[in-house]
Amino acid sequence: MMENQQTLRGAIAYNDLVAAVGAGNVSRNPVELQAYLGDASFLGMVMPKHKLRIDMPDFIVFPETTEQTAEVLRLANVHKLPVTPYCGGAGVQGAAVPLYGGIVLDVKKMDKILAIDETNLTVTCQSGMIGQTLEWALNAKGYTYAHIPQSSYCSGIGGFLAGHSAGVLSTKYGKIASMVLGMEVVLPTGRVIRTRAVPQSAAGPNLNHLFIGSEGTLGVITEATLTIHPLPEVRQFRSYVFPDLHAAFEAARKIMRRGLVPGTLRISDLVESLEFYKQDGSFMTLSFDGFKELVDLQEREAMAIARAEGGKDLGPEPGERWWQHRFTSVYPKDQGTPLDMGRHTFNVGNVIETAGSFTYLEAIHQEMGEAVTRIPGTTFKAHFSHWYKTGGMMYPYVVNSGAASDEEMVDRYFELHRAAVGAVLRLGGTITHHHGVGLTLRGFMPREFGASFEALQTIKHALDPNNIMNPGKLGFEGR
Ligand SMILES: Cc1cc2nc3c(=O)[nH]c(=O)nc-3n(C[C@H](O)[C@H](O)[C@H](O)COP(=O)(O)OP(=O)(O)OC[C@H]3O[C@@H](n4cnc5c(N)ncnc54)[C@H](O)[C@@H]3O)c2cc1C
Repeated sequence: MMENQQTLRGAIAYNDLVAAVGAGNVSRNPVELQAYLGDASFLGMVMPKHKLRIDMPDFIVFPETTEQTAEVLRLANVHKLPVTPYCGGAGVQGAAVPLYGGIVLDVKKMDKILAIDETNLTVTCQSGMIGQTLEWALNAKGYTYAHIPQSSYCSGIGGFLAGHSAGVLSTKYGKIASMVLGMEVVLPTGRVIRTRAVPQSAAGPNLNHLFIGSEGTLGVITEATLTIHPLPEVRQFRSYVFPDLHAAFEAARKIMRRGLVPGTLRISDLVESLEFYKQDGSFMTLSFDGFKELVDLQEREAMAIARAEGGKDLGPEPGERWWQHRFTSVYPKDQGTPLDMGRHTFNVGNVIETAGSFTYLEAIHQEMGEAVTRIPGTTFKAHFSHWYKTGGMMYPYVVNSGAASDEEMVDRYFELHRAAVGAVLRLGGTITHHHGVGLTLRGFMPREFGASFEALQTIKHALDPNNIMNPGKLGFEGR
């Protein structure tokens, strides 16, 4: 009886969805349903096979317009079906894994550039655009939006915004939050709202920030207006090796404090410096972009600071090589991608990235390294590649090869995160700088937010009373 009722409800929902977006935009194909069970995260890949609960989605829906998206959410609210927004599926924390079945709403058919405003330096596009497609279109007109994550080819605007992403040039151009002027969002009830695409405003709280980093839990982002820049005349690299990590950090701190604006500023710890760059010490690569005179001037100033901190000049070549390989250099070749790690071996790996102030970033590196390597079979190395006047971001590769079975790998994965994130929180850092929360870190959200987590939950309940949007994520309740 129960089963018959569910089948009947499923059929009604299917017919409603077909009426909303057309039969060609609703899939119940088992192969497609299976394909959307995971994302690029370790958990997304292993969960379907292991003890963590996950339900097969009922439908994959591909709306082509904001109106269709609104109708899908309205229906989902009526049928109380969970909705998981999905863009590139390249998230590494499992944020797009549809835990409780229902609808996976793939935004990739909303992939149009709506306007490029060359006078006011903005682009408006739909949220399903893959980042690199947008970048190519802008480059053809002499512009860049300067958001170049290593996942540029496989992630999209919706994912960048909902995941609060950072590109490799973020030290100069900022994270995605500082690039967005306005957004269009479909709320869980199906209501469409827009934030005003102006350079700045003092009219109350900025609602863009409610949806940036919301990981699909508060609505579906359908459009965004982002700032763009004329392509730089030149981009120049310079690399250094410092006697130790502390000296490299001091150089970074003084470069930022001096008001220099590097596009990239990457520092490797001693392990990564040796393994990746064959350098004994702490490797730093630095780039400036813009017009030649200003670039030369900044480079000269940075060089003087680096020298004063004991940096040996390695010239432009290592940085230029890194730039050429920026989309392929994510994982060291000997360790494979997380995909290989999960599939072919019992290696468990993740980048447990964080951000913290200059005062304790070095201590976070030290203590996280000690905490994770206490777990047998763990290796740890890190680089630091997004900088602010107030501190920086650490990007550690944590890999464990001590598990003896697939099940143990999942336990080991969480054990590593408990150790690493525990150290971060003790010292005052954040649980994530740009990879987001997803399934991996959701249990840490109450500690990250403290008393303000209740305020966040209140907003969630108010916007999404039936808890249809990506339930069980960001530390919110499941179903
Ligand atoms: C090889 C590789 C390199 C990477 N490099 C970087 C990097 O340099 N910088 C970085 O920040 N990240 C990086 N990542 C992580 C990943 O690319 C980012 O988290 C990115 O923001 C995910 O975008 P996506 O389009 O793949 O989103 P998805 O994985 O599809 O979704 C991510 C989250 O956003 C939600 N979502 C998606 N679209 C919408 C929408 N339209 N409205 C509301 N919610 C939505 C989903 O529900 C999910 O919660 C990398 C990943 C890989 C695999």
